[in-house]
Amino acid sequence: MKRIELFENESANTPIVSMANDIHNNHYYMKRDDLIPFSFGGNKVRKAFEYYKDIVNENADVIMTYGSSSSNHCRIIANMAVAMEIPCHIISPIENKKESYNTDLITKLKADIETCPVDKVSQTIMQRKNSFLEQGKRPYFIYGGGHGNPGTEAYVKAYHEIQEYERITNTKFDYIFHASGTGTTQAGLVCGKILSGDNRKSIVGISIAREEKYGREIIKDSIREYLKELFYEKYQEEELIFTDEYRCGGYGLYNEHIERIIEEVMLQYGIPMDTTYVGKAYYGMKCYIEKNHIKNKNILFIHTGGTPLFFDWLAGK
Ligand SMILES: *Cc1c(COP(=O)(O)O)cnc(C)c1O
Repeated sequence: MKRIELFENESANTPIVSMANDIHNNHYYMKRDDLIPFSFGGNKVRKAFEYYKDIVNENADVIMTYGSSSSNHCRIIANMAVAMEIPCHIISPIENKKESYNTDLITKLKADIETCPVDKVSQTIMQRKNSFLEQGKRPYFIYGGGHGNPGTEAYVKAYHEIQEYERITNTKFDYIFHASGTGTTQAGLVCGKILSGDNRKSIVGISIAREEKYGREIIKDSIREYLKELFYEKYQEEELIFTDEYRCGGYGLYNEHIERIIEEVMLQYGIPMDTTYVGKAYYGMKCYIEKNHIKNKNILFIHTGGTPLFFDWLAGK
């Protein structure tokens, strides 16, 4: 196994850039997690930093994960495995056939892709893991999307970076918005907030796929799993704002408003956003602010990456 120097760092420390005010005098900022310098960046690299430590500690010699072959998570894990000079085995649902630049990258990165029907996923993972163990290998399994405590930890650290920025620049963010999928990113931010006893901010996850009730439960489970006993002492329902109002029909679906805002942000700031996650969440944030009559606030949007998906949209994929 080879070490990756970048991954040995304590923190990603991505830049926060200032953007224009809107008509209600809200000032916008964007944290550029899309600029983490590995495999086109994004929140999945931040999570991968934490899994990397575990993989090194356990001296694993094959990385297993689950996800569609068009996912940002699978691209980054495949890239990390190549850089570590160990094989990567991806279990992928056969139902997902969408070809994308991520699919091309994962193929180029020589990951082993094993497809199975979505209802056979757990079984396939178990079987594959056992067969690796029988061969005398030491497999390390990462849940789809980097879901789990190390993934949560990644965004507890991101929360500390945000606080550090606030301290240095003497700014206070009233709101933090971001795209919420498996909810690990949001769980980490909420845990960071709870652990630092910070009561100034609302963290708003814009659901890109899941319905509110189910999505919330999963995020809450992740928070409980991370905070352990402290959860029962400190967690309050109102800490968790997760809205499914801007899902636009579900995963991967988008409308012309989302496309328009992606074009605007690209032209004005030179920042690419994709239609599945970041563009959708950015549009959702603007609608949320309008709807809730939010005025004169400092608002931080976290750009969670997905840059290859921006090119899919450009290429009409
Ligand atoms: C996976 C992903 C998300 C969602 O992150 P979760 O931690 O799963 O909620 C948001 N944006 C991008 C670009 C992603 O790839």
